[in-house]
Amino acid sequence: MIVIMLGAPASGKGTQSVIVAQRLKVPHISTGDIFRWNIANNTAVGEEAKKYIDKGILVPDELTIRILKERIEKEDCERGFVLDGFPRTINQQQSLDRMLTECNKSINMAINLSVTDDEVIRRISGRRMCKCGKAYHIVTYPPKTPGICDLCNGELYTRKDDTVEVANTRLEAYKLQTEPILAVYRERGIVVDIDGHKPQEQVAEDVWKEILKYSEKHGWM
Ligand SMILES: [Zn+2]
Repeated sequence: MIVIMLGAPASGKGTQSVIVAQRLKVPHISTGDIFRWNIANNTAVGEEAKKYIDKGILVPDELTIRILKERIEKEDCERGFVLDGFPRTINQQQSLDRMLTECNKSINMAINLSVTDDEVIRRISGRRMCKCGKAYHIVTYPPKTPGICDLCNGELYTRKDDTVEVANTRLEAYKLQTEPILAVYRERGIVVDIDGHKPQEQVAEDVWKEILKYSEKHGWM
């Protein structure tokens, strides 16, 4: 079962990818994690990727695909995997398709966690961080005392990326680059839309229901 998780920034796709991968008992694959792993372990592709990252240049798609192919050819991906954060552009989507075809694999389901623009902005701009690593949200997950961390009494701060302006820019980039991917997958009939506004546990249940529905239809599990 190959599942791709799509959604705007702050849609909760990272969290939901991890949950669905655990339930399916398949690896959760994020290209960011694979790069970090390869760099930490000084692999050949890791060394190559590091050259770009050190210079602050985007890693070329060709290299990302190669690193991803190495990962999904490992034995633990035989039953499938959940792909999180990739593809982000229509070019990446096409390269991914070609690579999967080479590997005799295909995407079974693309889950689209949909949240409104206002919700994305509200989620991102409401984030507050503590230097101890604990994260809060002024509306959905506030600290007991405003501005103060529950765990260490540290003063909370807003990351420079968590402003309305940056959130708007990221949302625009998402729409421009990622929504065309959804259109391609929709045409293929593999998109499942999930309401991302519900509480995390409910979203996870909704995703799981769709997976079961798919499995039943195709005689899986
Ligand atoms: Zn703290």
